[in-house]
Amino acid sequence: MEDFYTIQGEGFYQGHAAYFIRLGGCDVGCVWCDVKESWDASAHPLVSVEEMTTRAKASGTGIVVITGGEPVMYDLTALTDSLKRSGLKTNIETSGAYPLTGTWDWVCLSPKKFKAPDPSVYDKANELKIIVYNKSDFTWAEEFAAKVNPSCELFLQPEWSKEKEMLPLIIDYVKENPKWKVSLQIHKYMNIP
Ligand code: SF4
Repeated sequence: MEDFYTIQGEGFYQGHAAYFIRLGGCDVGCVWCDVKESWDASAHPLVSVEEMTTRAKASGTGIVVITGGEPVMYDLTALTDSLKRSGLKTNIETSGAYPLTGTWDWVCLSPKKFKAPDPSVYDKANELKIIVYNKSDFTWAEEFAAKVNPSCELFLQPEWSKEKEMLPLIIDYVKENPKWKVSLQIHKYMNIP
């Protein structure tokens, strides 16, 4: 759908310069999705793996974030092989709706209520990022924290439109449950993609 050089705004790599490759296509259907234009893959042009790799390498960063849409809808072996051959780190942001393919340096699992993750993804997640949209999401978050591997980093992030309401609850929750950390979408504060 698009690729661009920016600052990773969320989660463990927050604040790092990173090259984003956003793949078109998503069948998860989150009601609050902020990239609904990504859902229809056919609305976006095909770009070759070589071209994506060349653009990412030219940016100067060592980190590439593959996002969507829902990137695990596709076999990502060729893309990650190409990026790694160029010496780039491969990070993915996924709801985990399908099994992972490809070779990843960092897997950010952000499960969605609208389509449960494939169980094979829990063990591979380096980071669990739960989007908090309402109060019941804390209980929901703990269900996933119990499923991921013990070294997985745990983040709670307010859904952007509910931030004023949810952030104070997240702050209290993290203080009471310090295994979690707060994640904010700092790229939105910086007005960058
Ligand atoms: S998984 Fe991501 S792209 Fe797909 S609907 Fe949900 S927020 Fe949007």
